[in-house]
Amino acid sequence: MATYEYRCGRCGSFDVKLPIGTAPDAWDCPVCAAAARRVYSVPGLARTSAAAAALHTREERSREAPDVVSEVPPGRTAPRQPHPALSRLPRL
Ligand SMILES: [Zn+2]
Repeated sequence: MATYEYRCGRCGSFDVKLPIGTAPDAWDCPVCAAAARRVYSVPGLARTSAAAAALHTREERSREAPDVVSEVPPGRTAPRQPHPALSRLPRL
């Protein structure tokens, strides 16, 4: 399925989901039922900054092969002590 954009002269733009390659040049407006013309627009692609792309790549990599550390990295705080109520939970 693909999303096709149509524009009614009175009501504005609306989207129609149809199988790829089957969109007609006109579609009935869902509001006023007038013929709306198909609008050709650029695909929904966006440019990603280098920093955002690197972060995304690191996040994807950590899903399969997370970095293993044996100590708190410099500049970070040590993890908090566990909540005291957790000590009252039964041990296995
Ligand atoms: Zn309309």
